[in-house]
Amino acid sequence: MKSKSINALKMGVSNKIIIMDLIRYEPGITRREIAARTGLNPSTVTNIINSLKEMNFVFETGKKSTQNPGRNSIKLGIMKEAASVFVFHINVEDTIFGIGYMDNSVEILQHFSTENDPSAFFDKISEIIKKYYARMSKKPFGVSFSFPGIVDRLHNKINIIPHLGWKGIAVEEELKKRIDGFDLRVRIANEAKLSLKSEKAVNSAIKDKINGIYLYLSQGVGGAVLINDTIYTGSNFIAGEIGHMSINKNGPICRCGNRGCLETYIGVDVLIRQYEEQKKIPASGVREKFKKLMALYIEGDETAVETVEDMLTFMDQGIANITNIYNPDFIIIGGMGCEFPKSIFDRLNERIKSKALTPAGDNVLIIPPSVDEALTTLQGSTIEAMDEYVRRVIV
Ligand SMILES: [Zn+2]
Repeated sequence: MKSKSINALKMGVSNKIIIMDLIRYEPGITRREIAARTGLNPSTVTNIINSLKEMNFVFETGKKSTQNPGRNSIKLGIMKEAASVFVFHINVEDTIFGIGYMDNSVEILQHFSTENDPSAFFDKISEIIKKYYARMSKKPFGVSFSFPGIVDRLHNKINIIPHLGWKGIAVEEELKKRIDGFDLRVRIANEAKLSLKSEKAVNSAIKDKINGIYLYLSQGVGGAVLINDTIYTGSNFIAGEIGHMSINKNGPICRCGNRGCLETYIGVDVLIRQYEEQKKIPASGVREKFKKLMALYIEGDETAVETVEDMLTFMDQGIANITNIYNPDFIIIGGMGCEFPKSIFDRLNERIKSKALTPAGDNVLIIPPSVDEALTTLQGSTIEAMDEYVRRVIV
């Protein structure tokens, strides 16, 4: 008898979380649609919605046009201000700070150069946290970071960010050293994993797809893998590091110590360097130079076409390898890949058909992300933090 009541209680808790998640991920959903999707009795759905309204998590946003008017066709939304989290997107050149909200929206507030020295970097981050924390009447519950490297999520530790030369940094400790009484929930993650999390939540092109890859192109080449609708991290959060797949044992030495990694052929700084061996790119900074290089490629600049086409042959090889290994439904090329013109995506989709095994190569969709580079990791950080928050407060 006792165990039965505990099970019933557990069931109630998970139903509440399931419904909360449905409204978070699909705002505008109605009670009727929730009942149909979950198989729950309509009165159970109504009771749970009432309880979420009392907690100030959910509100009614208006009527959905339908042939069956009434209470069950009212659209439901999430109260944006119900919870918030500080979010930082760090890349090799710059850092972006924003506040993420319960409805998964992000307000971008500051943009600054990434300090190369980790101590100066955490001084700056701590100042921002202190400043905004003091200003906010309803305090955020956490702070989340997206890093361009390999991190240990369990211990909130940066293992290595090769392009910044950072190794073995305990992020939470760095903040505690600098902020008195610091008690925000700290989360850190790799940029590719967060981008995949965000795309899965908001990109309608992959909504129903359960196997996929996110290739994060920047100075390094990161990646994330979706298997059966779950982001696969491996035992040490390293799974998906596509950039370190060696494709030539005699190739150039990579930052990881191996030779001929994919990253040494398709990383954006490699591309820029190759172009600049012949001609200077009239722009400053890696991102601006890469944008300019893409513009030159589209214009038909001979050196740009030659450099980019050469890079694409290595990309074909890398994409064929991951297609054969994972047989994904989609491959998103994000990060600075956002700058690729449509013609490059068309070409990659065409080439993969002959390079990868049949029918994996025919079925995989190679697409750009739906959200731009900085927003995608900030949004991914927000969604992950709110996933955890909801599970902590709904009991
Ligand atoms: Zn490598």
